[in-house]
Amino acid sequence: MAEAELLRLEELCVGYGAVRVVDRAELSLRPGEVVGLVGESGCGKSTLGKAILRLADAEAGRILFEGQDITHLPERRLRSVRPRLQMIFQDPFASLNPRKTVAAILEAPLRQAGMGRAARQARVAELLGQVGLKAEHAARLPHEFSGGQRQRIGIARALALEPKLIVCDEAVSALDVSVRAQVLNLLADIRQRMGMALLFISHDLSVVRHISDRVAVMYLGRIVEVGPAARIFAAPRHPYTQALLDAVPDIGRRRRFARGAAPIAGEMPSIAAPPAGCRFHTRCPLAEARCRTEAPAFRGTASDGVACHLAASVGSAGAAQPAATEP
Ligand code: SF4
Repeated sequence: MAEAELLRLEELCVGYGAVRVVDRAELSLRPGEVVGLVGESGCGKSTLGKAILRLADAEAGRILFEGQDITHLPERRLRSVRPRLQMIFQDPFASLNPRKTVAAILEAPLRQAGMGRAARQARVAELLGQVGLKAEHAARLPHEFSGGQRQRIGIARALALEPKLIVCDEAVSALDVSVRAQVLNLLADIRQRMGMALLFISHDLSVVRHISDRVAVMYLGRIVEVGPAARIFAAPRHPYTQALLDAVPDIGRRRRFARGAAPIAGEMPSIAAPPAGCRFHTRCPLAEARCRTEAPAFRGTASDGVACHLAASVGSAGAAQPAATEP
C-alpha cells in the first residue's frame, strides 16, 4: 500500500449466498480525496460501500485502511477503527431514531468515545453550526425537520468523531433538486475545511460531477473505469461511462451531437447470472466477437484505468470509437 493512500481495495469480492455482488474490485483513496462511485441501481456500489465499513462481509480480497488490513478484523479491534470510518445514508429519516432528540443522536458516538457531558454538549453545538443548523435544534426530534435538515443531522453525526473517510451512499438522492445542491455544497465545504476523504456513491453522474476529484464507474459488480473527474467527463474511455454521460441531460446533448450515436438502451442483466466475457457486451454498441467470451483485463493503474478490449483504440477525443463494421 502506497504511503499516501488512506484506503485500498485489493481484488475485493462480496457476495450474498451464491450471488457475487462485487467482483474483484480494485480502488484506492488518498487522504482528503473525493472519489465518486457511479453505476446503475443494483450494480453493487452500495454493497462495496458497506463492505468498506464492514457492514457486508468480504468473500475474498483485502480492505486496507490507514495501512491496516481490516478485512477480517474482529469486532473488538474494529471498534478502534470505526470512529475514523463513517457513513451517511440515503434516507436520513430511516437512519435517525425518531424517539431521540438531535442532541441524544449526536451525543451517542461522543459518549461511546468517553467524552464527558459538558464537552459533549459543546461538541453538539459545534457540529450543528458546522452543518448550518442552530444550537436550539438540539432539543428537537427528527420529524420536526425537513428532508434536507435531516440529512444535515446525518452529516453532523458522521462528523462527530472527526473521521478520515466518510462513505456517502446516495446521500442526496432522496432530496429535492434545490436542497440537493445545498447539501452537496455543504459536503464539499466540510471536506475542504476538515480534510476528510469521501467515497461518494451515486447512480447519477451529474451529482458526483462537481464534488469528485476522481470517478470510478461500476457495472454489474465490476469497476470498469477509474480516472480523474476532469478526464472522465471530457474523455470517457469505457462505452458504459460514455452511456452514463449521454444520460446526463446537458452533457448528453452535447456528446450525442458530437459523436452522432444513440444512447445505450436496455436493462442491466441480473447480477445473479452475469453475461460471460465482458459483462457489458449485451448492451455495448461496440461489442465484437471476443467480447462475448473474453473478459477484458483492467489496464492502467488503480487511479486511472479502464477494462475494455477497445480502450487501446482511444480516439483523439479519448473515447473508444465504433468499428467501421459492427458485428
Ligand atoms: Fe464493449 Fe467489448 Fe469494450 Fe466490453 S470489451 S465495453 S463489449 S467493446
